[in-house]
Amino acid sequence: MIKVRNLSKHFGALVVLKDISADISKGEIISVIGPSGTGKSTFIRCLNLLETPTGGSIFIDGIPLLDKHTNVPKIRRKMGMVFQSFNLYAHLSVLENLTIGPIKLLGMKKAEANQKAIELLKLVGLAEKAYSFPDELSGGQKQRVAIARCMAMEPEILLFDEPTSALDPTMVSEVLAVIRRLSREGITMIIVTHEMEFARNISSRVFYLDEGLIYEEGTPQQIFDNPQKEKTKAFINRIRSLHINIASGDYDLYAMQGEMEAFCEKHVVTKRVTGYTLLIAEEVLGLQRDFSNITISLSYSEKEGNVEMVCASAGAAVNPLTENFPDDEIGLKLIRGRCSSVEYAYKDGKNILFLKIKGE
Ligand code: ADP
Ligand code: MG
Repeated sequence: MIKVRNLSKHFGALVVLKDISADISKGEIISVIGPSGTGKSTFIRCLNLLETPTGGSIFIDGIPLLDKHTNVPKIRRKMGMVFQSFNLYAHLSVLENLTIGPIKLLGMKKAEANQKAIELLKLVGLAEKAYSFPDELSGGQKQRVAIARCMAMEPEILLFDEPTSALDPTMVSEVLAVIRRLSREGITMIIVTHEMEFARNISSRVFYLDEGLIYEEGTPQQIFDNPQKEKTKAFINRIRSLHINIASGDYDLYAMQGEMEAFCEKHVVTKRVTGYTLLIAEEVLGLQRDFSNITISLSYSEKEGNVEMVCASAGAAVNPLTENFPDDEIGLKLIRGRCSSVEYAYKDGKNILFLKIKGE
């Protein structure tokens, strides 16, 4: 359905996309991931000509999009795009936001457009907001309206550019749920996202963009569990773990716990394990002597459903598991009770504690 060959895009001297080739079949769900600034937005904006490619070709259903004889508006109408920032018409009601396109561009009768809009609003769970205005909606609701508005144009291809990244964390899941629901309707979707769990669950294939290329592509299992190339590996490792640096005893405990909590939430770690993680981080820090250079890293193992914590602290070798202060006893007990394994090593001038926090 979509065929891309040697697509490139330069902004002046800046080469964002070097050479992108891909074939996407009807009904496929492609997630596009990668570090920021690698051209993910540019790539999908080129697909519907919001950006004019510098070189290469794009075929939609065999029709060359960049050929000057092609009826571009007609082809673009097959594609809907959902942006980070909703882009609803503020002066129109939710219903009117959904009907204006079909009436003006598809020549649909008002009654039919209204009826269809109501159905779509039901699909995204917002039928009762039909007569509200965008200002009266939460971010998550706005984005669901934006998705319904795209669907009202009956697209065959939906492009999403980080549809949840402007949302409060509490609203991410309602939008992802709607996208997941639509993914069962057979529409071809290309989704740029930072939500890796979502990407893993929904996609038929994942494109990792880097160096102006589809640097690596594969099934979600291949890309997330077994990436082959160096940069993909580094990226996947980075997003899987959280690193917190502490440079003094006056570190901000609450900010640290907040970051850890957000990490756990992102990885759908249970409330209980999340609670253990925060508590153990505090206790582990309670065992430290030297706060000049500490790194606490968390990673989530999907396979085991547990969180691993590594605390590395620079300084002379002291094993807190054996050479502890008397008042460390309680902390140690708390740690051991909530971990399936606690190990110590001294390496490269660092005292390192490895902890596996018990899963369910
Ligand atoms: P991503 O979506 O992966 O974060 P983008 O596609 O937004 O990356 O941007 C890739 C690079 O292209 C960035 O360096 C960005 O600054 C640059 N860029 C994007 N759009 C434009 C533009 N319209 N003019 C100039 N530079 C741009
Ligand atoms: Mg982007």
